[in-house]
Amino acid sequence: MKKIIIAIDGHSSCGKSTMAKQLARQLGYIYVDTGAMYRAVTLWALRHDYFLADGSISPMLESDIREERIAVSFVLNPETALPEVCLNGENVESHIRGIEVSNHVSPIAALPYVRAFLTLQQQRMGEQKGIVMDGRDIGTVVFPHAELKIFVTASAEMRAQRRYDELKAKGQEVAYDDILRNVQERDYIDSHREVAPLRQADDAVLLDNSSLTREEQNAWLLKLTQDRVSALA
Ligand code: C5P
Repeated sequence: MKKIIIAIDGHSSCGKSTMAKQLARQLGYIYVDTGAMYRAVTLWALRHDYFLADGSISPMLESDIREERIAVSFVLNPETALPEVCLNGENVESHIRGIEVSNHVSPIAALPYVRAFLTLQQQRMGEQKGIVMDGRDIGTVVFPHAELKIFVTASAEMRAQRRYDELKAKGQEVAYDDILRNVQERDYIDSHREVAPLRQADDAVLLDNSSLTREEQNAWLLKLTQDRVSALA
């Protein structure tokens, strides 16, 4: 069966990664969470105190990237069979999902040199096709010729509630209002940045999953993919 590239973009916390993982598993495709790559670079910047008091980001980050002091990669977790993100070989999956990294990631992701660095790696990962990649600019910038593009959205309140439930379930102490503010701020920065802003590609299929169950959404997505692959065969 022909292998394709599936680009899943959309707003923060709409369950893109959950649906992308499930689809990749069903198809035997590789799953790549590009948000985790931006989060890993953010963790590096936090660890090195690169967020300066005047609100800017230290230019050291650019030299770290240029001089190859930062390497972002994935390892497969043998138990879950899912890729986990590594920063210079350290598995940082459990360090990148909290509110601190979430609160700092969008300014990092707006930096053109960070985007150029990660976009190139993402394009290399897709050379063999057979990949489901989720992010903000996959269908518009990383793979503008992807055979299937989905743009996912849901109301900010619904997304904040899902994120809140998820973090609570992991035992993290969080306030719903902080999460809602973070979701809204990230939407704003992601959609208004100059380089690769979040927007729906003209040929993307829109999915508003506010009132869909996970099962309904997965079934819809699998059928859409199968139809697209058959149409290309
Ligand atoms: O997907 P996730 O919410 O983990 O992404 C974290 C942040 O990384 C987003 O809010 C966005 O600022 C940035 N991002 C991006 N481009 C991507 C993926 C993520 O700008 N392709």
